[in-house]
Amino acid sequence: MDHIPITTHTNAFGVDPVPVLWSHPNPEVRGPIISTVRHAAQRNAIGAHQGSYCIYTGLAVAAKKLDPDYVPNFKGTSPVFKIGPHPSWADPKKIAALDPFGHVTTEVYGDWLKKGWDIRPTMAVTKAHLDLPECREALAAGRLKADGKILMPSGQSIVSKAAIEPVWYLPEIARRFETTESNLRRSIFRMTNGMYPELITRPDIKVFLPPIGGLTIYIWGDPETIPDENIELTCRVHDECNGSDVFGSDICTCRPYLTHAIEECIKTAQKGGCGIVIYFRKEGRSLGEVTKYLVYNSRKRQEGGDRAERYFECTEQVAGVQDTRFQALMPDPLHFLGVTKIHNFISMSDMKYDAIVNTGIKVVNRVEIPPEMVPADAQVEITAKVFHGYNAGKAYQDVDADKLKQTVGREYTLDEEPSDDCSSSTGSAEEESPCCKNGVCSKNKE
Ligand SMILES: [Zn+2]
Repeated sequence: MDHIPITTHTNAFGVDPVPVLWSHPNPEVRGPIISTVRHAAQRNAIGAHQGSYCIYTGLAVAAKKLDPDYVPNFKGTSPVFKIGPHPSWADPKKIAALDPFGHVTTEVYGDWLKKGWDIRPTMAVTKAHLDLPECREALAAGRLKADGKILMPSGQSIVSKAAIEPVWYLPEIARRFETTESNLRRSIFRMTNGMYPELITRPDIKVFLPPIGGLTIYIWGDPETIPDENIELTCRVHDECNGSDVFGSDICTCRPYLTHAIEECIKTAQKGGCGIVIYFRKEGRSLGEVTKYLVYNSRKRQEGGDRAERYFECTEQVAGVQDTRFQALMPDPLHFLGVTKIHNFISMSDMKYDAIVNTGIKVVNRVEIPPEMVPADAQVEITAKVFHGYNAGKAYQDVDADKLKQTVGREYTLDEEPSDDCSSSTGSAEEESPCCKNGVCSKNKE
């Protein structure tokens, strides 16, 4: 049986790990982030690479498909375009949720790699051609024009993109959540059922690679123009919504707003500026898709039906909290790109806006989703959000207490229930069939 190092053993980490001087502009002085599973003594970060996918790496080893001692070959993997360095890289208030040198590890830590140190990238930078039906429609409708450079006559657009895994510098993360580092460490330790004992046992280790989703940056236009405040920049920060983004569910505005942002990004890039979409893996307001669907059911089945008035309460009823996205870490990738001014911010969220401007980025225009793009069943969401502080823009000025009360969505009715009426149900409140609300069978009403 192999020796199993337990992270609470004193020899699991080096007694004296390579120090990390977070925010130091020189990567050699800052020090590499090392979370190798091969040499416990070399580690200076808590957690493992690949975010939540580290579990699949464990499965691959268990299935004897992966040699746990495999050394990655990074030949040819370096970025295909340059990002930074920018002054923001040296400011922990601007970057503490990612490693700004995470895409150039083979370059800046080349000598370490040659000596056998296991230092891995936490970012990758590449290019792509995107083919979206909405872009083809915009071309056909004349809203977009092909230029053969940013947008092809086929509707394909050309992007530069970067995938980023989270790397957290715990003292600054704690500061942003207005708590102490020790309370942050204890809370994560507790809510992961003790997955990372070093959070408690090694207060000297300040960097944590959390097992959460990362983010992807998509850029239309020349990324070199991003830090120039005189060149137009259009930006959307989008939180993942798989049901809408990929599968076209009509309960929310996510995909339409995302594709609207892409259209605006293409237009800006064609004028010589840049368009950025940052896609965060924060499904269901970072509560996950199971919680999200439970909330959908409770919204659609509550007395009085799905309505804007109860939109936020339904989430809180299921999850105990309305939202765990906490936008405090969201601006970091903007600062990584050197953003200091956004001319067109394609978002109505007050939380995202506040988080961005609070870190010193200027926002000129806030762009709401065009009302004609909002699906009928998503009126509940947009009305509730605008009523509770989302920027109404010009298009949503009519949202008031009356409109909030009147806005209702689709209900789940007897259609999903195979029995003809409610007589077969036991009648107790907990066991009512979905058609029965407070003992009234909605089928009988029809
Ligand atoms: Zn959505």
